[in-house]
Amino acid sequence: MSKLAAYQQIVGKDEIDQLYRLASLSKGKKVLMVNSTKDGGGVAEILHQLVPLLCELGIDCQWTTIEGDAAFFEITKSMHNAMQGKKINFSPDALDYYLKINQQNAERLDLQADIVVIHDPQPLALVSYAKKGGAKWVWRCHIDTSKPELSLWKFFKSHLLGYDASIYSIAKFSRLLPHPQYLIPPSIDPLSDKNRHLSPEQIKKVLSRYKLNTDKPMLLQVSRFDKFKDPVGVIKAYRLVKKELDLQLVLAGGTASDDPEGAMVFEEVKRAAGDDPDIHVLLLDPGSHIEINALQRAADVIIQKSTREGFGLVVTEAMYKGKPVVGGAVGGITIQIQNHHTGFLVHSPEGAAYRVRYLINRARVRQQMGKAARDYVGSNFLITRHLRDYLALFYVLYNMNQSIIYV
Ligand code: UDP
Repeated sequence: MSKLAAYQQIVGKDEIDQLYRLASLSKGKKVLMVNSTKDGGGVAEILHQLVPLLCELGIDCQWTTIEGDAAFFEITKSMHNAMQGKKINFSPDALDYYLKINQQNAERLDLQADIVVIHDPQPLALVSYAKKGGAKWVWRCHIDTSKPELSLWKFFKSHLLGYDASIYSIAKFSRLLPHPQYLIPPSIDPLSDKNRHLSPEQIKKVLSRYKLNTDKPMLLQVSRFDKFKDPVGVIKAYRLVKKELDLQLVLAGGTASDDPEGAMVFEEVKRAAGDDPDIHVLLLDPGSHIEINALQRAADVIIQKSTREGFGLVVTEAMYKGKPVVGGAVGGITIQIQNHHTGFLVHSPEGAAYRVRYLINRARVRQQMGKAARDYVGSNFLITRHLRDYLALFYVLYNMNQSIIYV
C-alpha cells in the first residue's frame, strides 16, 4: 500500500483526493528543498517525511544540503542564537566567511528548479549567488524571529530581498518584508517510526535498555542539547517536584551536525544532574526514532521547558501520543498547547514544577488532557495538512493574482 493510501485511514479519503487535485495544479514543476543537515533537529525530521510524499503526489521534489566546515557552523549557530534574540556582535570577517561558504555552495550545488525552498538562516544567502532565472525562491523560517538581533536581521534582510516569498510557523515571527509572507505550521507523520503505534513489549524493551525504573512516575524531555531548550531548568523543576513526590527524570537527546554547542550543553547537563540515580541523561544516536517514540509513550508527563522555540515538534509528538505536556510559554509551543486544555504553559522552573506535580498526582486529568491534546494535533498538525499548505503555496507562487484555488 502506498503511504498516502495508508493516511486515508487516519484523515479520510476526501483529504487525500484533495492533495492529488492540488498536486495536479503544479504538475511538471521541479521543487528543490535546501537546508544544512540531514540529521538532527526538526527541519531534517520534517523533510525526511515530506519530500518522498511530495514525490508520491507527482511533484518532482528533491532535497539537498549545504556543506560547511566547523568555523561556518560556529558562525551559523551564533546567527541562529542571535536571530532568536541573543545579543551577539558579528565581525565583518564572520559575515564575509558566512557569505563565502554560501557562494561556494551556490557554485557547487545544482540549484536549478522551478521552486527553491531554503530552510533557515544557514543557506539563506545562496539566493544572492545562484542563477535564479525565472525560478521562485522561498525562505522557510523555522526559528523564533520575533525579536532578532537587529544588525544581524538587517544583514539577512538584504539577502531576503532576493526572495519571492517567505514562510513562518506563527504570525509573530514574520517581519516587514517587500514580498508575500505565508503561515505554515510544521507537522508530524503519524505513520513514521517516531509516531506509529508501538506494542507494550517494544516499549518495555527500550525502557530496559536504558535501565529505566518502570515503577516510578516518569517525567521526560526529548531535545537536542541546546541552551534554548533549558535542560538545566528542567532539572531544577524536577528537584522541586522531588521534594514532595518520588519520580524519575529522563532527559533524552542528541546533537545535530550543524550544532557545535551540543557537546558543551550535554556536559553542563551531566554536571547539573550530579549523581542523582533518578536523573537519566541519555545521549541518543541519530535515527533513534523508535527509542524516542517508546520514551514518549512510557512517560507520565512530558515537559518542554524551552525559552525560545520555533515550533517544538517534540511537543506535537508527545501530544499526539495522548500525553499532557508542560511547555514553556514561547514561540510555537503557544499555538500547540491550549493552556489548561491540551497541556500547561509555564514561565519558570517553579511554574513547571507546580504543573508537573499537579499532573503526576492526577491520573484522570492526565488522561483527559492527553486526549484533548491528541485530538488537537490530529486536526491541526499532521503531515497531510502540511502537504496541502505546500501544494497550495506552489500553485500560488505561479498564480499570485488568484485568491481562490478551485480543486
Ligand atoms: N529528535 C531526535 N533525536 C534527538 C532529539 C530530537 O530525533 O536526539 C527529534 C525530535 O523527536 C523532533 C525533532 O528532532 O522530531 C526536534 O524538533 P523540534 O522542533 O522539537 O526542535 P529543534 O531541534 O528543531 O529545535
